[in-house]
Amino acid sequence: MEQQNFAVINAGSSSLKFSLFAATPAGPVRRIRGQIAEINSTPIFSARIGSHSAEPDRLLGESYSGHHRCLDFLLAWLEQHAQVHAAGHRVVHGGLHYSQPVVLDATIIKELEALIPLAPLHQPHNLQPIHALARLHPGLMQVACFDTAFHASKRKEAQQFPLPATLKDAGVRRYGFHGLSYEYIAMKLKEVDPVLAPKRVVVAHLGNGASMCALHQGKAVDSTMGLTAADGLPMGTRSGSLDPGVVFFMAREMNMSLDTIEDILYRQSGLKGVSGLTHDMRLLEQSNDPRASEAIDLFVYRIQQQFGALSASLGGIDGAVFTAGIGENSHLIRSKVVKGLQWLGFELDEQANATHASRITTRQSNRPAYVIPTDEDLMIAHHVQHILSETQASS
Ligand code: ADP
Repeated sequence: MEQQNFAVINAGSSSLKFSLFAATPAGPVRRIRGQIAEINSTPIFSARIGSHSAEPDRLLGESYSGHHRCLDFLLAWLEQHAQVHAAGHRVVHGGLHYSQPVVLDATIIKELEALIPLAPLHQPHNLQPIHALARLHPGLMQVACFDTAFHASKRKEAQQFPLPATLKDAGVRRYGFHGLSYEYIAMKLKEVDPVLAPKRVVVAHLGNGASMCALHQGKAVDSTMGLTAADGLPMGTRSGSLDPGVVFFMAREMNMSLDTIEDILYRQSGLKGVSGLTHDMRLLEQSNDPRASEAIDLFVYRIQQQFGALSASLGGIDGAVFTAGIGENSHLIRSKVVKGLQWLGFELDEQANATHASRITTRQSNRPAYVIPTDEDLMIAHHVQHILSETQASS
């Protein structure tokens, strides 16, 4: 049978990341990965085949600006390397109805558009390539995989805000995000530590966007994000959880408009806001400015607090996993966090942590902590391959 290839597309506000996977009996195999950066101004295309650059980075120029033109270019480029049979997309919000990946049609795309108010900073960007591909290749199978979906299994109390029922009915619920990352970690943990995998595990996804998730039996029980990706931990530029009174204070006492408040809470807060320097953890770690340490300490403190809270959601904790840009690469943050988790039974192995070993706790530690690199696109690829094989079986 002809080998099936499919693209995975992860569209943000200014970049379009992509991978090309081949469906194999052992699961999806990544053949190509790349991105188009600066898609709204002068797009720059880069791609790697295996560990080699497919070609030098290419400045596409202003005439390629926008999702539609970039995707047109990307598809033509991909089809020079392989026939593309389907496309999988990361979509941040699936609302109440989509707790599984779904094959898109015009009706479902409309439903996903209606969810834009629940994720105004992400959903529109995620939907752009879907629209563009539907126009360019109406026959191509497109699959949406949702960041919220994995959290549909959360315990009832973890999905609810203590608000009047009318708000709940309007969709104001604690959905949770980074679900594709957590789903991938849950899958990978079965290989890394098969004994721990079904137990009570807290995963810290620490990137520019940061959240934590409590897993039991590989399923989400609770998480730190809520209605939007602005909740929970402080992030690169987002404040995370706040007393709602802060918003009233900003509006009433400081005469700030809703747009200004949104801009501050999403783009001027978190590590960037506290340090007054940058959202970038690498730079904060290198800085001697006391405000950089202040931002790091607050980030670490909130992570430690959430280890406590999520352990309570699980009725205890058996292990921990760190992932995403900071979780995978910053031994400083991991060290500070784990040192504050002794009361939960974690003992840091300084040497293992400094050398980015997979397990960063000592042999004597009552609970293990691991570093597992996440791969949301590979998780999407698993879903797309599954749907492709089901479609084939039924045709
Ligand atoms: P996003 O949420 O945008 O996908 P990433 O998962 O790529 O974010 O994480 C980006 C964060 O990871 C940045 O704060 C960056 O500074 C941090 N990071 C990456 N490498 C390192 C490193 N070696 N040491 C410390 N922080 C790092």
